[in-house]
Amino acid sequence: MNTTKTFEFKALPYAYDALEPFIDKLTVEIHYSKHHKAYFDNFINAIKDTPMETMDILDIFKSISKYPAAVRNNSGGYFNHTFYWESMKAHGGGLPIGKLAEAITKSFTSFDEFKKQFSEAGKTRFGSGWAWLCMDDKGKLFICSTPNQDNPLMDIAEKKGIPLLTIDVWEHAYYLKYQNKRADYIDAFWNLINWDEVAIRYEKAIKTVGVK
Ligand code: MN
Repeated sequence: MNTTKTFEFKALPYAYDALEPFIDKLTVEIHYSKHHKAYFDNFINAIKDTPMETMDILDIFKSISKYPAAVRNNSGGYFNHTFYWESMKAHGGGLPIGKLAEAITKSFTSFDEFKKQFSEAGKTRFGSGWAWLCMDDKGKLFICSTPNQDNPLMDIAEKKGIPLLTIDVWEHAYYLKYQNKRADYIDAFWNLINWDEVAIRYEKAIKTVGVK
């Protein structure tokens, strides 16, 4: 159950210009205050006077195929963007450490190979969508991408898992600065990743999955 009984449009965890020069201030401002906010407002609207108003969003995702398209699109748009903002920070990037780093090496043979595969997932996602690093139900990490505002927590996902890291590859995420060069935006994203946050998600996911 969603104990607060309401869904929250969380504050951006940094200033609009914090991700410069990799993601420009205007892109972050419009992306957060217009696009993300619209998904949130439309989600609240779509669940008004339904049992979903008091549900945990993870439970909504688990049976998303049963709900109208407006719920699928806007619940995803609401959740995915918060997850994306919190995947980044000013002066991020570098390399993961500890157990997360070990898990990445174990699952992908090396960090560079992981980086290559994650970048490729974003670059090759046709149209609009997201690339993800996830944990499967055995504790193994994998990369996938989802169309539109879908995510790997949804019952309709090709491969379901617990998300650890994401990049938004909709044009609105990069077009002002990078125009058609999605690959350049994805390359720049590696300078922003908040590996501390990804490590916290990894630890939580390990507990959820129940592996050691
Ligand atoms: Mn977006």
